[in-house]
Amino acid sequence: MRLPPALLPALITGLLVIPLVPHAVSADPVAPPAPAVRDFGNGPERNEVAADVPERAEARTAAQSEQPGIVSHDRGYPRRTRLPVLPENPADASIKLGLVPHHGIAPRLNDLQQRGDRVSAQVVGRSYGGRDLYLVTVTAPESAAETREQERIRERIENDPAAAARDRKLVRTYKAPVFVNANIHGNEWEGTDAALRVIEELATSKDPGIADLLARTRLYFNITANPDGRVSGVRQNGAGFDLNRDFVTASQPEVRAMRQIMIDAQPVTVIDLHGYVNGTLIEPTTPPHGANYELAAA
Ligand SMILES: [Zn+2]
Repeated sequence: MRLPPALLPALITGLLVIPLVPHAVSADPVAPPAPAVRDFGNGPERNEVAADVPERAEARTAAQSEQPGIVSHDRGYPRRTRLPVLPENPADASIKLGLVPHHGIAPRLNDLQQRGDRVSAQVVGRSYGGRDLYLVTVTAPESAAETREQERIRERIENDPAAAARDRKLVRTYKAPVFVNANIHGNEWEGTDAALRVIEELATSKDPGIADLLARTRLYFNITANPDGRVSGVRQNGAGFDLNRDFVTASQPEVRAMRQIMIDAQPVTVIDLHGYVNGTLIEPTTPPHGANYELAAA
């Protein structure tokens, strides 16, 4: 049994929405008028659109093509890659806040992959505006055979959960997948920076507790789910979509990339890092976010 896409919003709602900074951020004053997006009371920033995303039809075409996923039957971990380093963009809105701009992410991840044997990074898609989407996997090293064994267990949990639940050996063997999603709202920046700091700590720590954690789990980080919005300092992606309202239709490439990560990783927990929300939302069973589903959401 493969998970039908229609069920994925239910997975998304099993997330923790974690505010990272308690103060508000002013809106981008040069943002153009929004396309027709109904506002259901979630703040004026919802109608901002990433203003400076170039029209790149070829990039959008690439984003719609198949990207390499997580699942591999012939590679273990780490999977050291050399991520393409993007041209510096001095207009990236993260810079004035002292945060990591989108073009600064690949160099950081390339460095972290060299500083040990725990970090693997890959490009799993491109945004509407053609910007790379980065997935980082942090776990203890695995041989290719060990990775295949993990994949067999994952498929067993998916296809025969009752039998898998009775198997006590499975609990000792399986590395629990945890998915950390960051910056789905482009102007809720700090999840990206927090994720990078956590990855660095996990990559370099000598703490035996960290080693034990990584022997028992795989931690997946979507470093920025919305690079168009991050660069422009707005909530939406370059097409003007609130990506956290698009999981039902998955019309945007960023959402399809998140969906594929969740299909491939089958996480037991999703932690979604937002910002500027007064509280932590723990939502195991609520309906998916969307204008036709509910009136208030982070
Ligand atoms: Zn948010």
